[in-house]
Amino acid sequence: MLNIVIFGAPGSGKGTQSERIIQKYGLYHISTGEILRSEIENKSALGLIAEEYISQGHLVPDQLVIDMLAELIDKTAHNKGYIFDGFPRTLSQSKALDDMLRERNTSIAAVFSLSVEEEELISRLLKRGETCGRCDDNLETIQNRLTVYKEQTEPLIEYYKKKGKLFKVKGLGSIEDIFESITEVIDRLSY
Ligand code: AMP
Repeated sequence: MLNIVIFGAPGSGKGTQSERIIQKYGLYHISTGEILRSEIENKSALGLIAEEYISQGHLVPDQLVIDMLAELIDKTAHNKGYIFDGFPRTLSQSKALDDMLRERNTSIAAVFSLSVEEEELISRLLKRGETCGRCDDNLETIQNRLTVYKEQTEPLIEYYKKKGKLFKVKGLGSIEDIFESITEVIDRLSY
């Protein structure tokens, strides 16, 4: 199984690169943000709780997201592997993910960390807000999300570095060039 984490600040291009990776390697895409947005649309119990946090740019509580993910993995039992997009976002989520995969006799093969400067992130997110109508793509919420990223999510870079799983990728440049830097690494991995 090839399990990959695509990691980076909001607006760093995780979704775009995930789409490319899925096309090439046939992985199952798990975007916790997308799943939560569809829960909100369906007005489920989880959606109602999640909406409060997402609209303010805060993280949805760990246990809710972890349980949601575990249920999805059990339901899909996909054997080629997964791409985790927007998860994990906290240390406790990383540990839960490691445990979840270990119980299923697999692990994370690589974590791609997309780095993009803050000014560029803000401009990308504001542009996305104009076109795709996400309630969290407005300046105030974007600033909260970037702070949350720095405080709670960025420390995971060290966590994966220590495990020898981290690959830093420059998130600026053409989508194709960024994708190529990722595939060069994936094609060298043994999994
Ligand atoms: P995203 O689409 O990945 O940018 O996520 C949008 C929002 O969904 C985030 O700002 C969080 O409020 C929430 N969210 C997505 N993934 C997670 C996660 N792994 N843990 C907690 N909250 C999350």
